[in-house]
Amino acid sequence: MRVKEIKAIFMSSFTYLLIVVLAIFVGSNASIVNAQTGPEIRLVLQITVDGLRGDLLNRYQAGFGKDGFRYLMKKGIVYTNAQYQHANTETIVGHTTLATGTFPSQHGMIGNVWFDREAGELSYNIEDADAPLLPTREESVKGEQLDPSQKLSRTQGRSPRVILAPTFSDGLAAYYGGRSKIFGISGKDRSAVAMAGQTGKAFWFSTDTGDYVTSTYYYDAYPKWVSDWNGQRLAENYAGKKWELADDISTYLLGGQDDRPYEVDLKGYGRVFPHPFGELGDKLFYTRLFVSPVNNRLLLDFSKTLVKNENLGQDAIPDYLAISFSAVDAINHFFGPSSLENEEVVRQLDRNLADLFRFIDKTVGLKHTLIVLSADHGMADMPEYMTELGFAAGRFDPDDIVVSANKVGKQFGIDEVVRFFFRPYLYLDDEKIAAINLDQAMIEQAIASALTDAKGITLAVAGSSLATQKGNPLLKSVRRNNHVSRSGNIYVIQEPYWFLFEKGPIAVMHGSPWRYDTHVPIIFAGPGIKTQTVHRLVHPVDVAPTIAAFMGMTPPAAAQGKALQEVLR
Ligand SMILES: [Zn+2]
Repeated sequence: MRVKEIKAIFMSSFTYLLIVVLAIFVGSNASIVNAQTGPEIRLVLQITVDGLRGDLLNRYQAGFGKDGFRYLMKKGIVYTNAQYQHANTETIVGHTTLATGTFPSQHGMIGNVWFDREAGELSYNIEDADAPLLPTREESVKGEQLDPSQKLSRTQGRSPRVILAPTFSDGLAAYYGGRSKIFGISGKDRSAVAMAGQTGKAFWFSTDTGDYVTSTYYYDAYPKWVSDWNGQRLAENYAGKKWELADDISTYLLGGQDDRPYEVDLKGYGRVFPHPFGELGDKLFYTRLFVSPVNNRLLLDFSKTLVKNENLGQDAIPDYLAISFSAVDAINHFFGPSSLENEEVVRQLDRNLADLFRFIDKTVGLKHTLIVLSADHGMADMPEYMTELGFAAGRFDPDDIVVSANKVGKQFGIDEVVRFFFRPYLYLDDEKIAAINLDQAMIEQAIASALTDAKGITLAVAGSSLATQKGNPLLKSVRRNNHVSRSGNIYVIQEPYWFLFEKGPIAVMHGSPWRYDTHVPIIFAGPGIKTQTVHRLVHPVDVAPTIAAFMGMTPPAAAQGKALQEVLR
């Protein structure tokens, strides 16, 4: 053999060896990357508990089992001091913030309701006449709508078209080339639609029929499994039944205060246990189910049916399921967050979650599931209750806001300068102001100053002054809530424990920038996540970027939050 040949053989073996070594290196490196970023997670399960104020899990912990909330607290990272940073802490605002990782100024969901300046009337956040509701039944009794914002919807059609920022779930769709299955489901339409994003499918509960429904934005016809689920008419089983306490009353922290005069009786539902649902055909029957743990129980059953029939989490392409439980919020609105009803629904939800986690473990495997739990806002106690405890609290009649703003308008020679007030925004008649040839910002500022002087109002902020005003930290939260065409001219902030509405069909409201409304839990649990309690101040805008980072993806397009380092391995 000539030297040249030996050299050639040596070189080719060397090249071969190099290729093998490289392959091993690249291979192992690839598997490390995979382990960090994705395929082991087959399902992202994002749970939102509507209206679960940040302190309630602590308050009711003694009544929890070990497999629900406690499972998350034991296995996960619990952020005890998560605060929303936008001013109008309402359902669509919170859900969209969780989903997109950005603020209402960017995602455009500035409130459950805003004034449509062009049409001259109020609009409901996700209403869309071009995406009609897909009917589930030929005939149904039209239920009485008690949700004060949903009631204002001009159409039953729903879609995410007005949401101006992509969600984490949209990012997942893009990353996996449309192969991830994405669903958002909830008792409430707005919660399901916000979480599903533009690319997912949404289903929500109808208080007209007790069915889970969707719109033509998502489907042309119901998938068979949904029709079959609705066909069981599970909700009807509760006709003539009552919501009763599941455990002995002595085991509840709030067992001694069931009967409080300022709770609202839903036409026969009563203020004390047991609460009768009424009969089928009663216009409030499905609404009463909605205002009870049955709401969450039906959603739990629907979500299991979905996971099974859509085969979620069965392969290496991760799927996404957002479940938003609405009952805690619904009950809070009628009975308050310091009611026995509130304690009972959170205790029942704890059992629902234990059931859900067992089911997910069997079907997908908890070792393949990233669980994220948070809430869309907190909740205020009713002013009457706070007054009883010694707080300075009260209700502010919204008509008074209109009257005092119009009085200022008069001083400038404008008759009825207010076009509309819907908390928290005051909309002025821009045309009338333009006609008198005075500086609009100056007039807005004069009205804002007059409103700020009223008892029960902390601050009224003119939108035109937001860019230049500094100092008061509340201004930042108003700015983050400000969308140029949807927000009103003036943002009105009540004092702590004050409400900007009179007692009506509901007793209690959230929506302020105060801590009882901004404080929510954030918990992450899943493979590789080490148990930890974090007391650092964090924000719900951090949630979507954190999930994205955990999955090795780019944050949602408009995200402004930061990935939470404790969650990332
Ligand atoms: Zn809500």
